[in-house]
Amino acid sequence: MTTSTPDTPSPVLILVPGVTGGPADGAARFHLADPAIPQLLVTDLVATRGDGVFETIGVFDGTPVNVGPHLERLSRSASRIELPEPDQATLAEAVDAAVEAHPAVPELTVRVMLTRGIEGTGVPTCWIHARVSDDWSPYRAGMRVVALDRGLSTTVAETSPWLLPGAKTLSYAVNMAAVREAKRRGAADVLFVASDGYVLEGPTSTLLVRRGEQFLTTPVSAGVLPGTSVNTLFARLQQDGSPVHEQLMTVADVQGSDGAWLLSSTRLAAPITHLDDHELPVDPELTARFERVLKGKA
Ligand code: PLP
Repeated sequence: MTTSTPDTPSPVLILVPGVTGGPADGAARFHLADPAIPQLLVTDLVATRGDGVFETIGVFDGTPVNVGPHLERLSRSASRIELPEPDQATLAEAVDAAVEAHPAVPELTVRVMLTRGIEGTGVPTCWIHARVSDDWSPYRAGMRVVALDRGLSTTVAETSPWLLPGAKTLSYAVNMAAVREAKRRGAADVLFVASDGYVLEGPTSTLLVRRGEQFLTTPVSAGVLPGTSVNTLFARLQQDGSPVHEQLMTVADVQGSDGAWLLSSTRLAAPITHLDDHELPVDPELTARFERVLKGKA
């Protein structure tokens, strides 16, 4: 997984001071900025507290996928942590501007970041960063996954909403630590398991399981992020006549399934070859079809 080589085009940075609807003085709601120089103050609450929300959007051959659903989820995450509501039209325009400003590449990763801003001001900070995507091809070919305890039950959304289940906040240090633990164990990624024994999601992905003709995922009510990728795939699978359901599943259920994937907007559909030491069937043709659908090309 490499990001910058001498041939990789520079990333594009757009600052969005008008994220809540536009500055009163008529200044531009967003503008290009130099990604190679520091832009964030050390007193921004995202730097001191990880206090903010974000989205990661995949762009394939110049077309961003699911911008509306991503920005809606950003608004929901913002509302969960009582941030001012971001203006979706401004952000959609700024995402397009970032894609346009970046040299054409097959796969681009666009991050939309919204923070609580500089301590004491109450003014959120927002920026959009577009860069060449990591090389996800090894993951898309199949990956080993370990099941790791998340330490929270599937009732967390009801019992402890202040833990922000289902919100995409910028406090991802735990998720990244879990991926490092997976790597120490010789795997590429993680499937989180709830304290009541049900599987949840990956640190940056949604679980998809195949059982015969049916496709299953973890219920959002169990405290997982509502994935844009799984929604896109479910809509397509349903159109094609395959039943799709949200269902609580155990590690043994996934190990005994007819295939499983971890889905996300930039890595797309990564098939699980092994869950812990149990081998799972992998269907490269179906995975390739999922990839086309998730790229918005089928
Ligand atoms: N679950 C978590 C915790 C995530 O961070 C992500 C994406 O980053 C997903 C699921 C997948 O969401 P999406 O398909 O919208 O990219």
